[in-house]
Amino acid sequence: MDSQMLDVLIIGSGPAGLCAAIYAKRANLRVLVAEKEYLGTGQITESDQVDNYPGLPEINGYELGEAFRGHAQKLGVEFYDGMAESFAEGEKSWTVQFTNGYKIHTKTVIYCAGAAHRKLGVDGEKEFTGKGVSYCAVCDGAFYRGKSAAVIGGGDTALGDAMYLSDLCEKVYLVHRRDEFRGSAASVQRLREKENVEIITGAVPEKISGDQTVTALELKDGRTLPVHGAFVAVGMQPQTECLQGVVAMDENGYIIADETGVTSAPGFFAAGDVRTKALRQVVTAVSDGANAAVSADAYIRGLTG
Ligand code: NAP
Repeated sequence: MDSQMLDVLIIGSGPAGLCAAIYAKRANLRVLVAEKEYLGTGQITESDQVDNYPGLPEINGYELGEAFRGHAQKLGVEFYDGMAESFAEGEKSWTVQFTNGYKIHTKTVIYCAGAAHRKLGVDGEKEFTGKGVSYCAVCDGAFYRGKSAAVIGGGDTALGDAMYLSDLCEKVYLVHRRDEFRGSAASVQRLREKENVEIITGAVPEKISGDQTVTALELKDGRTLPVHGAFVAVGMQPQTECLQGVVAMDENGYIIADETGVTSAPGFFAAGDVRTKALRQVVTAVSDGANAAVSADAYIRGLTG
């Protein structure tokens, strides 16, 4: 890609970014997708099974991501491997600088960098990351075949992780700090029916302990769960650190934007999990991508401010 002005620079190659690319390319815009990981497709790769994307029941998350990517590539969308570091607003344009110093000039930005795993924040978490502490059951679950593991969290991710691990591990503890789950009641019921899953509610983790690798999860009430693995599934944090002073964000760091993707900054659009919204799913991410591309197209043609 040369330094000629782009129409749309898309940051992130998850479902929102890839769908924005498909719409932008089909609108005949000069588009480039910047991705921090070569051939990445975002968080979706971590889902063993996506069962709520219409028309594709029980599809594997990695396969769905590859299908989105393949679609964009078939249309001729180009990709750039790099981590965006700063965004400077110019006269009806943006200059985006990457960590390697490379700069890209573009009329519009569609920011779809998604969210990263939130940390639990207990002793031992950092020390044992990669040595028993994991943030991705689908990626690391196989290491715990026939062993015991704890999943920490009460949302859909924790419930899905516990279900996935219950087919691999001898014993799975699902540890949640409240008595009510945030995730779907149907998933909780399915887990209750699993003989090797023990659900522990009202339990706050205090420490992840071990020697070379994890051996136990210690709870604040004094209980110690003997586990080889601790899967942390306590939510996500938007990847918006590089946007301080660039665009308006809420108190949790999400970019303030409705479904049009329009933000406080002209020519700068947001789509997917990074924006303020009620439901963060693949289906809403692709919808956001489409909307943001249409908004960017209208902006370029001078139809919106
Ligand atoms: P989430 O819904 O925000 O749930 C995070 C969970 O972690 C909550 O239960 C929360 O407890 C707990 N938690 C947060 N900080 C904690 C701490 N310091 N110590 C202990 N527990 C802590 O996050 P998520 O499960 O990753 O889901 C994110 C979004 O993706 C949701 O909208 C979800 O529906 C969606 N999702 C959908 C699917 C699917 O449909 N197949 C799969 C995965 C995710 P409290 O409940 O007490 O706040």
